[in-house]
Amino acid sequence: MALVVQKYGGSSVGTIDRIRNVAGRLMDTQREGNRVIAVISAMSGVTDQLIGLAHQVMENPPERELDMLVSTGEQQSVALLCMAIAEMGGKAISLTGAQAGICTYGSHTRGRIGSISPGKIFEALNEGHIVVCAGFQGVAEDGDIHTLGRGGSDLSAIALAAAVKADICRIYTDVDGVYTCDPRVVREARKIPCLSYEEMLEMASSGSKVMQARSVELAKKYGVVFEVRNSMNNNSGTIVQEENSAMESLTVRGISIERNQARVTVSGITAPVAYTAIILTALAEAEINIDMIVANTAHDGRARQSFTMNMSELGAAQAALKGVLPMLGPEARLETEAGLAKLSVVGVGMRSNSGVAATVFRALADAGIVTGMIATSEIRISTTVEAADVERAARAVHAAFHLEQGS
Ligand code: ASP
Ligand code: MG
Repeated sequence: MALVVQKYGGSSVGTIDRIRNVAGRLMDTQREGNRVIAVISAMSGVTDQLIGLAHQVMENPPERELDMLVSTGEQQSVALLCMAIAEMGGKAISLTGAQAGICTYGSHTRGRIGSISPGKIFEALNEGHIVVCAGFQGVAEDGDIHTLGRGGSDLSAIALAAAVKADICRIYTDVDGVYTCDPRVVREARKIPCLSYEEMLEMASSGSKVMQARSVELAKKYGVVFEVRNSMNNNSGTIVQEENSAMESLTVRGISIERNQARVTVSGITAPVAYTAIILTALAEAEINIDMIVANTAHDGRARQSFTMNMSELGAAQAALKGVLPMLGPEARLETEAGLAKLSVVGVGMRSNSGVAATVFRALADAGIVTGMIATSEIRISTTVEAADVERAARAVHAAFHLEQGS
């Protein structure tokens, strides 16, 4: 008898019909002789709606109250799902994060899972229930509700799978798995049958929206093998696991796109060597997440430093940097550029194959695409391009690596 964790995202439970579909799938899985734990997101749009309501009341709602509010989205969906199972003659019980024993620490709206005590889950399984846990939430030591950051139900599912030592962990969503590129952008994109944790992590953090990046990190840490699948069919999905030699033979596995990028440049820096520390500290204190960093010294001894970030952070970044400009020299200036996108090419095979970057930039040049800032990791090459060019860029690079041929 296998112990199975299945996670269903917001779109998979977005309507009552879809909730019935998930109820049926969970009951089928149980009928096949498995013990079943489900982790469920709020119905699609509900979390955003709740956050919207909060902001109608006040501009900066207290984060404790935000957690109290948005965690109700998942409580709605788990209760509705258990009702749908009951209506179909099955036996299910819904649990909040606290009832499921998910203990968190850290700050409100960005809680972290510290430990899981699955006693109640096992009790309910032993009584023959399908156990339906609210994703995205846990309880702090002081009894307060924490949410786990946007997309946090993925994290709940992976953490639960690790804690109960599940035999199978499946993340159900509205696509068949992870693709070589977004099929809405590259029509020839293909489903990738198997990815390493690191590749999945690089893809998730460079714009492939299939899964929350933190949840992939956690899966890697605890060795949770999981499969991303479609909740509307029975096609096989993408299995994510430890790297193996078959993966290495393919240099490039996938291409991610991230839109809404902006660049900030501080130029005319004549301040002491510590200028990078001054700039980064100002941004860190304002809690701004920056992505790429490029620094260089011009021939006249003045330095420039550029960063990229999400468009939504641009205003705050400008404000934070204006405050430290005087420390960087009398002529230090800020320039900003919006309307950028980031293209990332990912694959563990890059480690052992040379010439990957050359192929990327040759393909982009041949397509007449101007590239900007470049950043790399061992298994990723990213470049900024004009937002208007990013789809063409993705198609050019996809073709250059023959990703349409599959693996
Ligand atoms: N409902 C939460 C969100 O929209 C968590 C999740 O869906 O994973 O971010
Ligand atoms: Mg999600």
